[in-house]
Amino acid sequence: MYNAKAYSATSETSPVSSTIIARRDPTPNDVQIEVLFCGICHSDLHQIRNEWSAMPTVYPCVPGHEILGRVTKTGSAVTRFKTGDLAAVGCLVDSCGVCGECKLSLEQFCQNATLTYNSPDKHTGGVTYGGYSDSIVVDQRFVLKVPSNLDPAGAAPLLCAGITTYSPLHHWGVTTGKKVGIVGLGGLGHMGVKFAHALGAHVVLFTTSPGKKEDAHRLGADEVVVSRNANEMAKHAGSFDFILDAVSADHDINAYLNLLRRDGNLTLIGAPSKPLGVAAFSLVFGRRSLSGSPIGGIAETQEMLDFCGQHNITADVEVIPIQKVNEAYDRLLKSDVKYRFSIDMASLKSE
Ligand code: NAP
Ligand code: ZN
Repeated sequence: MYNAKAYSATSETSPVSSTIIARRDPTPNDVQIEVLFCGICHSDLHQIRNEWSAMPTVYPCVPGHEILGRVTKTGSAVTRFKTGDLAAVGCLVDSCGVCGECKLSLEQFCQNATLTYNSPDKHTGGVTYGGYSDSIVVDQRFVLKVPSNLDPAGAAPLLCAGITTYSPLHHWGVTTGKKVGIVGLGGLGHMGVKFAHALGAHVVLFTTSPGKKEDAHRLGADEVVVSRNANEMAKHAGSFDFILDAVSADHDINAYLNLLRRDGNLTLIGAPSKPLGVAAFSLVFGRRSLSGSPIGGIAETQEMLDFCGQHNITADVEVIPIQKVNEAYDRLLKSDVKYRFSIDMASLKSE
């Protein structure tokens, strides 16, 4: 084991602050990565505040699953990476490798998958620690290659916000000629707009923030609807093939289900802590469906990164030092970020 610098939360009410954690020395299949940038996902905030009853937080909690860095050491059996390579890690660091889901590279559905943080750590017997740290050690099967043309600070958020939007857009067949709604212009939502636009769909962005209209058009939205305006919403009734809901807080989902056409689908990727109320007739009329989607598998994550390399897509980021992370959380709660915070991990050296 060796000591790594990190930021952790010690309780659901404490801010995150500087600490030292123990990491494993790389085993033969491991890649050790110096973390250069780590995105701030709203999930980090839900998790450190213990807001998800289905995934109770174990403290101390080191969040961070949008990790981009440089390889500093490789185990003897590592073939895909060498020291000095750019490398990335998302929300998963291990899975059983033998179940049906793993065999299909759908590791996100493996019953024994290990999340990047707040998951039982098979190696140490403790809990996994995420990317708010100067380094991380990960099995090579869960380390991604990063196209060299992408800006590293903007590429980090692709590892969660990117794949979480890319995967359901593909699964539900979004392409040219489809009318697609994206709800919420935050970290996930703004990637959803970029991908849906790149796939050729007619993209409508729903926002509670009228001030984001211009940005939404710049990011690729064909239309922008301020969701608090009932008249604007009514104009789109029964017209969408697909809606991706990326909202982090409680909201009326029926208002969006009613905008789907016959057999349309609304997929939830946002994970508010409270259950959402669904009126039966929002689904019954129109044979509509409501589903959810978690991140994506490793092969699809690599496909997404390669797609971003080809189309020069990254997240729009505000780069901050780690010392500003608690302030960033306060701003995230006010929907005040354009559109993802990316932590410059060099700032951790001074701690
Ligand atoms: P974010 O950057 O904070 O964006 C959330 C957006 O939701 C805000 O920008 C805002 O958009 C909208 N919003 C916030 N409060 C609202 C309210 N009370 N009513 C209506 N709209 C509201 O968060 P994020 O990082 O994109 O994450 C979004 C959600 O996805 C979180 O719950 C997160 O945990 C979850 N998540 C899920 C997965 C998965 O695998 N499914 C992966 C990552 C994250 P406007 O200002 O445009 O209204
Ligand atoms: Zn995330």
